[in-house]
Parts: sequence; structure tokens; C-alpha cells
Amino acid sequence: MTTTRGTSNTNARGSSYQRRALTQWMLNTFGDGETAQCAFDGCPTILTAQTMTKDRYPIPGRRGGRYVHGNVRPACMTHNASHGAREAAEERATEKAKRAQRNARRRENRLTKTANA
Ligand SMILES: [Zn+2]
Repeated sequence: MTTTRGTSNTNARGSSYQRRALTQWMLNTFGDGETAQCAFDGCPTILTAQTMTKDRYPIPGRRGGRYVHGNVRPACMTHNASHGAREAAEERATEKAKRAQRNARRRENRLTKTANA
């Protein structure tokens, strides 16, 4: 049973042949051709072609990042499955704070104008 999310469907991941080729490219680029370490800071997990998952980085899937050379790095399942939702929540929180700041500034401007009139 697989979970399907809107940000990553089978077309975006490529054909089985493309996925295998990309996995091998990652093992060659980030590891010794057979194994590679999880790209997350401090994670000691050594990954093989069977256990490696592809983390879309620097452009994540929710920003339209694709499974292509230069936008993938090796990650263990634990890290890859957990960080996306957290980062999205952080981005939403940042947006909300910016909006609140903007609204406060506008309110202040309005009050200033009224006082000067
Ligand atoms: Zn990891």
C-alpha cells in the first residue's frame, strides 16, 4: 500500500528505468557507487540502492522541485518522510508573522494619517 500525495506522483518520479538510473547516479555522486550516507546533518545511516530515498533539495516538491540531477540528495526514509511537513508548517508560520507585521504597520499608518488630518 502506498501513500499518494499531490506533490509527487509516479510521473514526477519517472519510469522505473529512470528511477534506477537516478539512484545509481546518486550513489556515484554522493557515495562510493554502492553506498551513500543520509544527507541530513548528523545522520549516520548508510544507504544502499534498496534503502535510499530521494530527497528533493534544494527545491522541495511543494515548490515544484523535480527528481533530476542537481535537485536530489540521498536521505534515509525516516528523515525524508518527516522534514517536508515540518518545513511547510514553519513556512506557514513565517508567512503568518509577516502578514501580522504588515497589518500592524498599515494600522499605524492609518492612525498617523487620521491624526494629521
Ligand atoms: Zn537520515
